[in-house]
Order: sequence, then structure tokens, then C-alpha cells
Amino acid sequence: MLGKYLSNKKIPWQRRRQLGMVVAGNTPTASFLTKIGKMQSAGCRLCRIAREARGESTDGLADETHGHINSAGCEGMATTVTTAHHSIWRHLYASMHAVQKPKSKLKFVTLDKESNMSTLWRREEFPRICNKEELAEKAQDIEVTIPVKKSQETRYNLDPGSFFVNRFWGRRPDGVAINEALKIVCVLEFKRSTDRDKGFLEVKDAEANEQHKSIIGALKAAAAEWEFGQINFVVSNRGR
Ligand SMILES: [Zn+2]
Repeated sequence: MLGKYLSNKKIPWQRRRQLGMVVAGNTPTASFLTKIGKMQSAGCRLCRIAREARGESTDGLADETHGHINSAGCEGMATTVTTAHHSIWRHLYASMHAVQKPKSKLKFVTLDKESNMSTLWRREEFPRICNKEELAEKAQDIEVTIPVKKSQETRYNLDPGSFFVNRFWGRRPDGVAINEALKIVCVLEFKRSTDRDKGFLEVKDAEANEQHKSIIGALKAAAAEWEFGQINFVVSNRGR
């Protein structure tokens, strides 16, 4: 597919050239330019601008690699990268929905920005799996074992007693498919990743499983007669 794209004359040459550079690993990022002696610092220029705009220190900037500026970890690119994630996933989710056989009882739940575990349990089909209180109790047991992230510390300090259960209800899977007839729920997660490192598929897969382990674990504990699983979709960005 890559070869076809690169040799397709209908696609503007500049775009093909850009992708070619990505594949070859010589995109003119600060990291690359520093390596060939054309720049002094590999620190990300987009992160720097974002931090300066907020009046924050620009110490300890991440290296400006192709992978970095294509990840939500880049402070200057986070919004764009998140939008790309949502638009690719929306397309993929809609495609899966579209190829369903007419007889299939599998229902793809339509999720939006506001959707999380709490809003799922406000729909009619989810409380039929198990009630909210029981799920909250099981979720609490798992959530307390998951570290409080730095970005969550303020919320935790405000109310440590209810932090864990609230964190659970605020969790947002990218997709959920439910088959009430067969009593199966599948949580779907979508990740984009640079494919520089050989093990990127395994790494992203493990990351996604870790992210939703309290959802799957609590559901299994609260509704033993149902089956719960998670399917992860990992799409790679070429290059480093
Ligand atoms: Zn950055």
C-alpha cells in the first residue's frame, strides 16, 4: 500500500515526498537536524511555544521526533492528534457497524464526547447486566489498586473517599458492543502509535488493556453469567 501511494502520480509530489522522508527517518524534526549538526537542541519547538504561551518553564522538553509530534504527548499537537484519533476511529467504528449481517444481534453503542461508564449505566440495556451499586462496589476494589496519576492528584485530595469510584464512572471506552441475547459485552479501544519500535503492537495492546482493566474486572465480578472482553485496534504512524 505504501509503495502504491508513493508511486501514485495523482497524489501531489510534495505529500509523497513527505511520507518518503518519514519512512526514511529524515523528516526535518529538531531531533534529526540536531543529529546532523544543523541545530543545537533536539527539544520540541511546538511544546516550547505551548509552554511559553502558558508562561511555564521550558526545561526538560521532549525530543522533537516524528513520533513525538504525532502523539498527544506533544503539547503543541495534542488537540490535532486527538482530533485525528477521533476521526479515524469514527470511520472504523462506522465501517464495522456497516458490515454487520442483518441477523446479527450485536449492537454497537453510539458513543459521543459525553459518554462514559456512568452514562452507559443510564441507558436501558446496561443496568440489565448488573445494577450500578454492585458494579461500583466491585470497581472500587480494583480502582484502589491503580495509582493516582499526577493530573488526578487535585481531585484525589479534594475527596479521597469517592475519588476511586468517580474515576471508574468517568472512564471512557472508545467503543462498546453488546449482544444481549448471548450475554456478551465487548469493550473496544483504538490507539495510534509510531511504529519505530518493533514491539509497538504489544506495547499499545498492553497499554489499552491496562487502561480498561477496572471496567473488565469489575464487570466480570459483578455479572458472572455474562462474558466480557476487550478488542484493541492499533493503527501505526510510519516512521520515528
Ligand atoms: Zn512537542
